[in-house]
Amino acid sequence: MNYIIPPPAVTSVPVQGGSAGDAASHFPVHRIYCVGRNYADHAREMGHDPDQEPPFFFLKPADTIVQDGESFAYPTATRDLQHEIELVAALGQGGRDIAVASALDCVIGYGVGIDLTRRDLQGEAKKLGRPWDSGKGFDNSAPLSALVLSRDVGHPSEGRISIDVNGETRQEGDLSFMIWKVAEVIARLSGLFTLAPGDLIYSGTPAGVGPISRGDELVGRIDGIGELSVTCE
Ligand code: MN
Repeated sequence: MNYIIPPPAVTSVPVQGGSAGDAASHFPVHRIYCVGRNYADHAREMGHDPDQEPPFFFLKPADTIVQDGESFAYPTATRDLQHEIELVAALGQGGRDIAVASALDCVIGYGVGIDLTRRDLQGEAKKLGRPWDSGKGFDNSAPLSALVLSRDVGHPSEGRISIDVNGETRQEGDLSFMIWKVAEVIARLSGLFTLAPGDLIYSGTPAGVGPISRGDELVGRIDGIGELSVTCE
């Protein structure tokens, strides 16, 4: 194939214990799906009734990933950048109309992610009925830890999820508080989109979302999955 410009690079994230003794195993990223309002306490803090809404989804481009240990620039065009700590499911298989009962077979691993949000732009989009892309899908908006494999850690349905900013805990919850479990999210998503190996699903955030300033150090943790450390410059 002759391309008229060099083809874009594949975004990838490292995998812990990816293959025997091979520290160089990586997961190539295809699409990034995100779930809105998937913890009741966060839905309430955003002014919604968690019992009355089905799950809804938005996407971020694959190249918005920020790797563990990296710094990212404070984004343009916002005065209200916010953190949302989230469990991320990585798909090793895809498909359409996947049943809840077999959905977890698609998940090859998990990571600790942050759904960075330009809350002022998102708020404006909500008010005006416009798309969320500018508030959610901007450059460097998807920090993600190394992945751990399901074959090693199983499929966690409970465990502490938290984020510290400069050593102070800002969000804290438990995976068991998720309204739509990962299997249900996959089943729903696969009715809307053809899921593929390489897809990531950011599964929603607990209460306590809040602003980030230049110089802040963010450390996200999920029991049994790992840790993510990134700095805003
Ligand atoms: Mn989110």
